[in-house]
Amino acid sequence: MQLKLDNNVSQFADEIEALSGLNLYDCYQCGKCSAGCPVSQFTQESPTRLIRLIQLNQKETVLNSKTPYLCASCSTCSERCPMEIDVAKVMETVRILASREGVKPAVKEVVNFSGAFLDSVKSNGRLFEFGMTISFNLRNRTPLKDAMLGPVMLQKGKLGLFPQSIKNKEKIKNIFNNSSYFEPKEEKKEH
Ligand code: SF4
Ligand code: SF4
Repeated sequence: MQLKLDNNVSQFADEIEALSGLNLYDCYQCGKCSAGCPVSQFTQESPTRLIRLIQLNQKETVLNSKTPYLCASCSTCSERCPMEIDVAKVMETVRILASREGVKPAVKEVVNFSGAFLDSVKSNGRLFEFGMTISFNLRNRTPLKDAMLGPVMLQKGKLGLFPQSIKNKEKIKNIFNNSSYFEPKEEKKEH
């Protein structure tokens, strides 16, 4: 991959810092975060490399990377970093920035799952698995995916056909309405 360096090399790192409060120039590329990361072997950009790309102002590559979407938010990286950089928070910040800028998620299924899960909790006050599965499949445009498993799970009591409500459901809705959870509102640009 060819890196295009520009004159204002701190611009993207500054954006990340403004949103997360993390100074990524503290990173000296020791690689400890990547060594413990359970997903780095599946992605082109390990956490170490992603941070280096941010330092080098490679915004387009970073916002289109799969790594922040495959990140399991396990925080192993953050715990291991000798410079106390919260690398898991960096991943979250990249996802938020990509969402804000309308960048198509590199792993759309992850975003679709988050959206279906959170919408279900917002509507019902707790997770309604059956509804969430249908919503997830529709978002992925695979409406019949794993449909054969549905009757088996229903029969074994692993899925309920109707959502179970909770008391004070409105309070949960208010929490959502007062926070901006991560889901792309639109998918316009491809950086
Ligand atoms: S939080 Fe994400 S980036 Fe960090 S070790 Fe876990 S999976 Fe890897
Ligand atoms: S562990 Fe910390 S200092 Fe080392 S590469 Fe990762 S972010 Fe950089």
